Amino acid sequence: MDERGKLMEDAGERELAAALIGGDRRALARALTAVENGGAEHLVKLCRALVEARTDDRRAVRLGLTGAPGAGKSTLMEALTRRLREAGKTVAVLAVDPSSPVTGGAVLGDRIRMREMAGDDGVFIRSMATRGHLGGLAAAAENALVLMEAAGWDALLVETTGVGQGEVEIARCADAVAVVLAPGMGDGVQAMKAGVLEIADVMALNKADAAGMDELEREMAAAEALREAVSGRARRRMVRTVATRGEGVEDLLAAMMEVARRSGEDERRSGRAGERWAGERAAIVIDHLGIAVRSLDEAERLYGLLGLASSGRETVASERVRVAMLAVGESRIELLEATDEESTIAKYIARRGEGLHHVALRVSGLEAVVERLRERGVRLVKDEIQVGAGGHRYVFVHPSAANGVLLELVEAAE
Ligand code: ZN
Repeated sequence: MDERGKLMEDAGERELAAALIGGDRRALARALTAVENGGAEHLVKLCRALVEARTDDRRAVRLGLTGAPGAGKSTLMEALTRRLREAGKTVAVLAVDPSSPVTGGAVLGDRIRMREMAGDDGVFIRSMATRGHLGGLAAAAENALVLMEAAGWDALLVETTGVGQGEVEIARCADAVAVVLAPGMGDGVQAMKAGVLEIADVMALNKADAAGMDELEREMAAAEALREAVSGRARRRMVRTVATRGEGVEDLLAAMMEVARRSGEDERRSGRAGERWAGERAAIVIDHLGIAVRSLDEAERLYGLLGLASSGRETVASERVRVAMLAVGESRIELLEATDEESTIAKYIARRGEGLHHVALRVSGLEAVVERLRERGVRLVKDEIQVGAGGHRYVFVHPSAANGVLLELVEAAE
């Protein structure tokens, strides 16, 4: 596209944004189509800025619902929508179907049940199907939610068909995720245990009036107890529902809202917004940048001129380094000085001179992350998780596996 074409496109997006923010449903629908096709970058950016500038009480709540086909997900979605409407909230539904290659597939078929609500100005329903790879769909879904929020909808419901990795990606966008299970799903439940179940904050045991519900609840309770024992994660709430009769829906909504409220508080406390991850909730941030220096004294002097002070020095005998940590906002600079010739820092400086030595990311669930890396054959400097100064746990990803950067992964404090 030439310069002029680009300018006209930008102007078009600004106009569309104004209409969308003004509450024009057709503008929202048009914008969503653009997003689904991977476009409207400016529009999304504009809407995101608008949404992030909002005070907490004006932010939309994002509730995710997932589950294998046959669990009654759509009926439950409809019941949740009705409940939210009764509470005076406007509701935008985004139904995402990663398995269906065209819009108008299975998800849209289920949507027919929500037809009775179609005459309600306070409900907006949109389906989205995969076009290309799943990663793209997750990004498009997230952008779609941003647009819906900018358009002023109070509650955003995201429905996915919970059978694969795509759902996990999409669920990241939600403040709270409920997985819908029903008796007699057999293989469906087994498949979900493989991963999708992990993203749940709440479990909706739907079709509570059907045979086999007690057995399902016992089975899930046992799985939760095992999960708690292995991972230390708190057991999740299970709520029995009969979506077709609206039973238990209020409890389910309350449980989800409680999770959403807490996740909002976590974000505020940690000063981060945007990244919402249901299973491993903490966002990944840069924990620190490691800089190899010949002299801590000299390096500290420079940063002192910028007003950055070290919080004290520490010697890490196992790594043969002396360390000074400088707080930089939420992140830190780690100055590294060799304690002797055999130190990796001494060798680094001999080979390449002083400079940026490593980038450290703070992740939660380091064990699981390392496991994932091992599975993919990603080379680590040492195979085991190391314990450093102050008891923090970390591993290094070898530069040969990380574009020439020595990548440190530090466990987030619980
Ligand atoms: Zn480090």
